[in-house]
Parts: sequence; C-alpha cells; structure tokens
Amino acid sequence: MPLTLSPHFSSEPSSQCDSVWRGATLVTMRDGKYNLIENGAIAVSGGQILWIGPDADCPDYPHAIEHEFDGGIITPGLVDCHTHLVFGGNRSAEFEQRLNGVSYAEIAAAGGGILSTVNATRAASEDELLAQALFRLQPLLAEGITCVEIKSGYGLSVESEIKMLRVIRRLGHMLPVEVKSTCLAAHALPPEFKDRPDDYIQLICDTLLPAIAQENLADAVDAFCEHLAFSPEQVDRVFNAAKSLGLPVKLHAEQLSSLHGSALAARHHALSADHLEYATEDDAKAMAASGTVAVLLPGAYYLLRETQCPPVEHFRTHGVPMALASDANPGTSPALSLRLMLNMGCTLFRLTPEEALAGVTCHGARALGLQDSHGTLEAGKVADFIHWPLSRPAELVYWLGGQLPCTVIFRGHLRGEVRL
Ligand SMILES: [Zn+2]
Repeated sequence: MPLTLSPHFSSEPSSQCDSVWRGATLVTMRDGKYNLIENGAIAVSGGQILWIGPDADCPDYPHAIEHEFDGGIITPGLVDCHTHLVFGGNRSAEFEQRLNGVSYAEIAAAGGGILSTVNATRAASEDELLAQALFRLQPLLAEGITCVEIKSGYGLSVESEIKMLRVIRRLGHMLPVEVKSTCLAAHALPPEFKDRPDDYIQLICDTLLPAIAQENLADAVDAFCEHLAFSPEQVDRVFNAAKSLGLPVKLHAEQLSSLHGSALAARHHALSADHLEYATEDDAKAMAASGTVAVLLPGAYYLLRETQCPPVEHFRTHGVPMALASDANPGTSPALSLRLMLNMGCTLFRLTPEEALAGVTCHGARALGLQDSHGTLEAGKVADFIHWPLSRPAELVYWLGGQLPCTVIFRGHLRGEVRL
C-alpha cells in the first residue's frame, strides 16, 4: 500500500464527491456518544466528509470511487492528545535498576531521572531526535491514530526547546498524521537555574515564548504545576505570556497533590487540565464552567502504582468532557499503545467503554482545540476514520492492547502501512 503524504488539510469541500465508503456500522461519537448508524455510508470530498447517514438515504454520486466493507464498524480516527514522544535516549536501564532494588534517591544522585533525559535530549541532533520519535510513533500509527499532540519539555533551554519543537513540526510535515505541537518549557527546573525558578520562568516568558511564536513552532503552551515543578503563581505568569502571544494553554495539574492548578487553568480558559488525580469537586465545577477538558492518563497512574484515582464521578456530574491519552514519555508512561489506555481507563478509573472511546475521539480533539474539525463522524469534518472488523465498539476497549487489524482513512485516502 503506498504511503499517502497529504498532511495539509486545506481542501475546500465541494459538491463533487471523490469516494463513498459503505457496508459497516458507523460509530459517529457525535456529542460523545456512540450514536450508531447501522449500514451507513460516508461520502468524501476534498478530504472532508461531504455526507454521512444510512446507506439507503445516500445521494447518488455517479463519479465517486466506491469502497464496500463486509460488515464491521467505522470509528473516527483516534486522537492521542497528550504525549512526550520526542526525547533523547530512554530510561529502561533505570526501570531495571529500580526493580533490582536501587532507590530513586540513588538513581537521582547518579544523574538519573528526568535530568538524564534532558542531557540526552540536549546532546542529540534534530535528526537523531526525529529518528527516535519515528520509532515510537510507528506503533501508535499502526493502531489507528490520525491525530497526535507532542510536547517539548526535555530541552529546558531556549536552544534545546526550539530544537524539540522543530522536530515536532517536521514529524507533522513528514507523516500522514495530524501533529499538534505544544511548548512545555515549564516542565522542570533546568540545572543551570537551581534555586532560581523565577529567573527560568522569566526566560520562558520574555525570550522563549516570543521566539517560538515568531517561528510558529507551537500550537499551545503547557506547564507542570506541582510542588516538585512550578507553583500556581509561576504558571500564571507563563499563561499570561502565552495568551499575550495568542497561544492557548493547557496544564499538568493535580497529579501528585492538590494545588488547584486545574482551577487556575479554568480561569485561563485552558484547552485542558491533565492528570487530575487530586482534583476536587470545586476544580471540576470551574473546569465545567470554562469548557476545559479533563485529560486522564492511566499509564502514569499505573507505572507509578498510584492509588488515588481522578474524580471521574465529579467530572460526570458537572459535565466536564473527559479525554484519555497515552502520556507517552520516558519516565512515568513509556506507553506505545493508546488502545491499551482505553482498557486501563475503564479498568483503573471506571470509565465506561463509551466514555473511553469518546476520550480518544471527540473529547481528545476538544483538548487540542480541534472540536470543529476532528473527533466525530459528521458532515464538514475531516475525513479521518477507521474501519475495524469488529461487531461492537466496546470490543476496541475490551482487548488488552495488541494490534487489531484496521483500515485507516486519512484525509479521505487509504493510509496503508506507514513504513518509517
Ligand atoms: Zn505529560
């Protein structure tokens, strides 16, 4: 199957239909629900969905190419809305050391932990970072991801953060997948700024963010609000700087303790607040009022063997949209399967399969500000969808990882196998 390289979604819809896809049950995920259309049809024009509905009602498109499936289901393309896929090296040696009884403190004293990733990322060239990220993206693409967000945050200097963001932009140009880039310079305190966190925040606000805005290297700005990272006041400064440059914000909040970062994010109308194990009901109310998505990350919860679950019931009660993501990163979630996260979101956080699937489609898209173009099967949206030879959508969630056979349509074209 040829590699389709048409990553720029710019075509205008027209009444001219390019292709029609039939013979399966459509899992539209409209309004975050399955909203099934049995024996459905999707007509595609210029990379967008022109028409969708029951096949019996499908208009006649005499010049369209016909594709007929033999049963199964069609879902929107999967969205992984929170990853850290670009980084140097990996931390499998530390993983092994810890299980052989070496303590966190000993590993940190030997230069391990996030600092080892920062050093490896700084030492790597753009091409080396690109090659390593391609290796990690391949399994995600193979399981049906058509949109992925990738953060910087292991450079922690103006030069190295810009290097990471350039790699993220290159991935978006090279691959048949929508890539959203997020600047996470406020991820950890770089060693050069030890005991001077406010000086580092000032560097981010005054120098780094204007530089990345000038080069259009980021679609959003993120930060890590936690005792071991940055305070709400410091995050507030980063958010104000981002917003003055027209960049939307999102936040790692309430992962290990409650600082009410999620309420701060809501005050800034953040796209999302992510992790949220320690979020309170008031945080949930604030997020609901601002339309901020709760991004749940069961991979880090699992790997850290946490016991405090995010307050899913509060998010449900107050109508906070919940997304699910891999959080793919070298330290706390070396996850290369979003489908595994679907199962873990249900098993560990008690989401329903319908909520989990909404988390990697419509709410995942909303967490990236893409709710008008991605995440559901509706006329006018991008024609990113997946055919699965399955009987029910819950089967996507039920199997514990593994690669299910699937046919990926990206921007209205068969994506085929992506060889990297
Ligand atoms: Zn993260």
